[in-house]
Parts: sequence; structure tokens; C-alpha cells
Amino acid sequence: MSTGQTMQAAQLLGPKDIRLVNVPAPAPPGHGEVQISVDSVGICGSDLHMFQTGRIGDTVVESPLILGHEFGGTISAVSEGAIDGDGTELSVGMRVAIDPAIPCGRCELCRTGHPNLCPNHTFMGVWPTPGALCEKITVPADGCFFVPDQISHDEVPLLETLGVAIHAVDLAHIHVGQSVAVIGAGAIGLCIAQVAMLAGATPVFITDRLTWRLELAEQFDAVPLNIDGTDAVQQVNQATGGRGVDVTIEAAWSDESSITQAVDMLRPGGRLVVVGIADDDALHFQHSKVRRKGITIAMCRRMKHTYPRAISLTQSGKVDLKTMVSHRFNLKHTADAFTRAAQYQPGCIKAVVHPNS
Ligand SMILES: [Zn+2]
Ligand SMILES: [Zn+2]
Repeated sequence: MSTGQTMQAAQLLGPKDIRLVNVPAPAPPGHGEVQISVDSVGICGSDLHMFQTGRIGDTVVESPLILGHEFGGTISAVSEGAIDGDGTELSVGMRVAIDPAIPCGRCELCRTGHPNLCPNHTFMGVWPTPGALCEKITVPADGCFFVPDQISHDEVPLLETLGVAIHAVDLAHIHVGQSVAVIGAGAIGLCIAQVAMLAGATPVFITDRLTWRLELAEQFDAVPLNIDGTDAVQQVNQATGGRGVDVTIEAAWSDESSITQAVDMLRPGGRLVVVGIADDDALHFQHSKVRRKGITIAMCRRMKHTYPRAISLTQSGKVDLKTMVSHRFNLKHTADAFTRAAQYQPGCIKAVVHPNS
């Protein structure tokens, strides 16, 4: 536990090099801030990008960085009048989920309802802002969202994933009864499939090559398509009488093959939402094909004010996050957690680190 002066943290020192280190404990909360004792942190694809390559997009990790942006915790100290992002007054002992993005709140984009596009924002767990793989963290109160008791520590980090999934489905403009194909059945794809069905999509196809992910997708009532050895595009075409689906949502590595699949599965006039982040920081597609089909492409940038919906859908049991948590680690074993997640260890859907257990 923290001595008050220093605390333990899992720091990324270079590609594939995460170590447990002692770092200064965070300052007590200033005006509008709360201090969180971190209960649980999820490891996601963007963490794995940084872990494996030391970068994400054009952001390079230039000095040791504490990763972790999907997290929740219990408030251990609070400044006076700290109000969460949904208007709840916060006090010590309350559990909250945290939006890792800190927009400026004052620019044109923030003021017109696009805080996810704020050019002046910082993001916890992306260089240079430290994340939550540590014992304690001080965060803005208005980026916190109160978590009711029915939602477990394990599920809380996935509220961030679900928040992004809700934003992605918002961007998909799904009409009831339309068909959707999700590329990639990782935690984000599985959340997107569940939300797309709630939005009225049917059927919802989902592709992957990892059988345990596809089995879970099927449990969630999506139509699993294994891309290992079979042509998923052909299967979607067959299932839709050669028409294609109304919407595809790319939630994998956004590489040439998955974007091409997403485009090939679409009907003319369809909509492609890109959620995955490409390793080579490029988006490849065949211009003539996309043009002739008149496809609309929407890029998903993080999320907007979707936490309240994510919490409500989880609390009511409309979305299942619990079944997705496959692996649990304490802070000491964070490096192990990353290695296993990066190697697609069989059965691994979501690895969660519990820093204070
Ligand atoms: Zn994430
Ligand atoms: Zn702003």
C-alpha cells in the first residue's frame, strides 16, 4: 500500500518492458478533483499497441509511462463540492468509473458537443499523461461517473469499452431491422455487437479467427463468422442474398485486410464505422470500390457523454460485461497480463488488473 509519499505503479519503460516501480504518490485533490484508490484497470488493444511498439498512431512514448485508461476505483479523498459528470455529488467511499479523456471544456468543439475532438485535451494512460496502473490517482471530478453496487469491480473497466461501443453505434445510424457486420470480436467488438442489437439491428454478424471469442459472440446472439479458412465476405453475401449489410463496424486492427472485408460486406450506400487503430497509422481501401458503392465512412474518436448509458445498460443487465472478463491479475503481475493479452492466450477476452488487491 501507499506510504503517502510513494506508491507502486506498473510503468512501460520501452517496447514489451513493463516493470513495477515506486513513483511519487499523487497530490491531494485540488479544486474540482477527487483522489481514487484504483480498484480495477482493463487492458485494451490501444494499451497493447503501446506495449508492443512503444507508440500509438503518431504518439510515441518518449519517457516511462504508467498505462491504463479503462478503470474505476473508490474515492479516497475529495475536494469540496466535487460533482461527477452526471451531476452526482461525490464523497469518500463512493465507487466511480472514470472517463480517461480530459477535454478543455472551453474550445469550440467542447462547446458544440464534441469534447472527444477537443484539440487541447489530455488522455490518461497515453504519453505524456500517466494512467491508472497504480495504487492511487487524482482525477477531475466531472470525468467520474458514480457506479452502483450491482456493477462489480471486474466490470467497471469495461464501462469505458462499452462507452466507446455506444459512440460507435451512434455513428452507425442504425435503423431498426437493418443488418450489421462487426469486424473483430475482441471486447470492443463484442460490446458493439450487443449495443447494435439493442439499437434494433438484425442480424448482427461478427468475424474473428479466435474460436473462444466467436463462442461468446454466439452466446450474445450475434452470428459468428470464423475468418480462418472461410471467406467471411462470401458468407455475408450468401446470408443477405447477395445484397450485403447496411452497416459494417471495423473493431480490429484497421489493416488493409479488415478494412477491405468491411467494404466488401457493405451494400451500395452503406455505412462503414472505423473503430480499430492501424499499426502503420494508415487507412487503406480501394478508391473505386468505395466510390462506386457510395460508402459513407465515419471515424470513431473515443466517446462522447456515453458513460451514463453504459452504466444504465450494465446495471439493468441489457449488456453483459461480466462474461467478458476472463483473466484477473494484481499489480505485481501487470507485465504478465500484457504478455498474455498480446499473445492472444486461449480463452482471453478481457484481462483486468486489480492494483489494490
Ligand atoms: Zn481502451
Ligand atoms: Zn476543448
